[in-house]
Amino acid sequence: MSIQYDLHAHSTASDGTLSPSQLVQLAHRQGVGALALTDHDETAGIAEARATADTLGLTLVPGIELSVSWRHQTIHIVGLNIDPANDDLQQGLDKLRQFRQWRAEEIGRRLAKARIPGAYEAARGLARGQIISRTHFAHFLVSNGYAKDVRSVFKKYLVRGKPGYVPGQWAELGEAVGWIKGAGGQAVIAHPARYKISSSVLRKLVEEFKECGGEGIEVLSGSHSRDDAMKLSRLAQQAEIKASAGSDYHGPENPWVELGRLPPLPENCTPIWHDWDLD
Ligand code: AMP
Ligand code: MN
Ligand code: MN
Ligand code: MN
Repeated sequence: MSIQYDLHAHSTASDGTLSPSQLVQLAHRQGVGALALTDHDETAGIAEARATADTLGLTLVPGIELSVSWRHQTIHIVGLNIDPANDDLQQGLDKLRQFRQWRAEEIGRRLAKARIPGAYEAARGLARGQIISRTHFAHFLVSNGYAKDVRSVFKKYLVRGKPGYVPGQWAELGEAVGWIKGAGGQAVIAHPARYKISSSVLRKLVEEFKECGGEGIEVLSGSHSRDDAMKLSRLAQQAEIKASAGSDYHGPENPWVELGRLPPLPENCTPIWHDWDLD
């Protein structure tokens, strides 16, 4: 029987709400055979996730979701089967986390100007010593009544043109792919349908990504419609790039995304796990 893959998920090491161990336990209950932990710009959860996966007989794929600036946009690149101990990767992550820390303080200053005091301190508290993401700001803003849910809070405060928005200065595309490859991993463009770019610009992104050594795109994602998946499967086939599948699970508060419940990849795709040696 073929195993169920879920190659994109978050824990409390970034903006997820389950600990690495709780996430792996849930994946096991959901019938996942191979789970990638892909926290934003952080590998701190991998050791705990792997220890739990070993006791349950589940394959933990050590991963990362890197923040990248490309043509004035933020895009996300997932790395799969990376060695988290790799020095160049960790130096790269340090650089991203330094920007993240400055950005969190800047978001706090900008929200304070918009008469929302204390946001940085609150977000930092919610992050419990781990990286601070916009999701932490969103949770603070919702629980203090500034918007009704996370989705509307992003729209109102945290995206371009809104009071708490700070432009990203993340890694370059080639740099991010280089860190992943240098750490022995495979690079995958995360949730391509989420970017606000035309299909011709997306094709350019895929070409540039391949030239850097990128190997796959997420055809299946918790945030893609069936139509997105069909279009992306054709793009993957035409561009001769492999296909990945990941829920982008962040925790039970977002019940519209389930861990490990993605449909099979369309048959015209070559799965990113094609050459993996899993029992
Ligand atoms: P950051 O990397 O700190 O900029 O935060 C990005 C994270 O915020 C993403 O990984 C999502 O988890 C979350 N996010 C971004 N946009 C939205 C949105 N419109 N609604 C809900 N969550 C979002
Ligand atoms: Mn996230
Ligand atoms: Mn993402
Ligand atoms: Mn993600």
